[in-house]
Amino acid sequence: MALVNDHFLKLPNNYLFSDVAKKVNAFKATHPKARVITLGIGDVTQPLCPAVVEAIHRAADELAQQSTFRGYGPEQGYDFLREAILKNDFLPRGIHLDMSEIFVNDGSKSDTGNIQELIRWDNSIGVTDPIYPVYIDSNVMIGRAGVMEEGRWSNVIYMPCTAENGFVPQIPERRVDVIYLCYPNNPTGMTLTKDELRHWVNYALHNDALIFFDAAYEAYIQDDRIPHSIYEIRGARKCAIEFHSYSKTAGFTGVRCGYTVVPKEVTAATLGGERISLNHLWLRRQSTKFNGTSYISQRAAEAVYTPEGKRQVRQTIDYYMQNAHKMLSALRALGCEVYGGEHAPYLWLKTPGGTGSWQFFEEMLYGAHVVCTPGVGFGPAGEGYVRLTAFGRHDETAEALQRLEKWMG
Ligand code: PLP
Repeated sequence: MALVNDHFLKLPNNYLFSDVAKKVNAFKATHPKARVITLGIGDVTQPLCPAVVEAIHRAADELAQQSTFRGYGPEQGYDFLREAILKNDFLPRGIHLDMSEIFVNDGSKSDTGNIQELIRWDNSIGVTDPIYPVYIDSNVMIGRAGVMEEGRWSNVIYMPCTAENGFVPQIPERRVDVIYLCYPNNPTGMTLTKDELRHWVNYALHNDALIFFDAAYEAYIQDDRIPHSIYEIRGARKCAIEFHSYSKTAGFTGVRCGYTVVPKEVTAATLGGERISLNHLWLRRQSTKFNGTSYISQRAAEAVYTPEGKRQVRQTIDYYMQNAHKMLSALRALGCEVYGGEHAPYLWLKTPGGTGSWQFFEEMLYGAHVVCTPGVGFGPAGEGYVRLTAFGRHDETAEALQRLEKWMG
C-alpha cells in the first residue's frame, strides 16, 4: 500500500487567493452589473518593456536556427546572466560574489519553497507574522511546522509585526535555527533599516542560525539608505541565503526568472559538528531536481540590465509607485491608518474600528465593489488589517480610490 505524505493533509484546504476569488465570484453572480476593481492579488498589469521583448524575439530566432539552437542549459544558469547579476545587482553596492554563488531559477517561489530541503526536519523556524505563505506551507509539507493549533503552527515561532512595534520583528525568546525575512515586506510593504537588519545578522552569527532573506521587492526601494540586499550587512555572507525575482522588478510573472544567492561561506552543522557548505548542497540539489531556466527567459532577464532595459524597467516601477503614493494620500486623507507603499507596491491598511479582516473585505466588496486581501490570510498578526496592491492600471486605481472615498467618506 502506498502511503501518502500526511503532512500535506495538515495544510488548510484553501489557498488565501482562491478563498478571495470564490467570494468575489459569488458577489459577481449576485451583482452582474457591478464592475469590480481588484486591488487584491499581487500580479503585475503592465506589459514587458521593449528591451525585454526584443531580447525574447532574438532568443526565439536563435532557437529557430540550426547553428544557434540550444537545448539544456547549465543548471545554475547561463554565464551571461550570472555575470550581469554580479555586475549590476551587487558590485555597485560593494558586494563581491562569485558566479558559482548565483543560481538562476524559474522565479523565486520555487526556491523559497525548496530551500528548506537543505536543513534537518527538527530545526526550529522563525517567521515574521504576517508572512508570504510559501515559507510556512513548504515547511508544513515536510513535517517541520508541527500541527495547527488555534491558527498557529506548533513548531513555528511567530514574530509579530504590527503598528505597535513599527512592523519591526523582535528577536524571540525561544531559540530559532532558521529565520525567514522578507524586505521590502509582502504583505505589509514595510522595510528594515540597516541597523535593524544588522541586529538579525548578528543574532544569526552569534547563535549559529541561518537567515533566508527574500528580496523580491528590492527594486521598489526609493531610498538608498534602506538595504537592497542582506549582504550589505557585514557577516551576512556567513549566515544568509538571498532570493531575487524578476517578477515584480520587470513584469516577469508570466516569463518566469529569478535567482538565489548561496554564498560559499554559509554552512550548517551535522549532528557530529562537521560544517557543511550549503552552496555545495544546493548545487547538488539543483542538479538533481532542476534542469535550468529557459534560454529565452534568461536572455529576457539579461536585457533588464542593459541601459535601455534599466530605464524602461524603472519607468514601470515608477508607474506602480505613482499608484502607491496616490493610494497612500487618499487613504490618509480619509483618516485611515495605513502603512507601507513608500518602498513597496503594497499598502497595509488597518481596518477602522477593529473590524475583522474578512468582514472588512466583504464590506469593501459590497460597499465599493473593490477587492482587497484580508490580512489575517497572511498570519494571525494580520487580523484587523487588509492588503492593497499598487499593481493596478492608473485609471482603475483612480476609480477604486474615488469609490473608496465615497464609501468611507
Ligand atoms: N517572494 C515574495 C515575497 C512574493 O511576494 C512573491 C510573489 O508574489 C515571490 C517571492 C515569488 O515570485 P516569483 O515566483 O514570481 O518570482
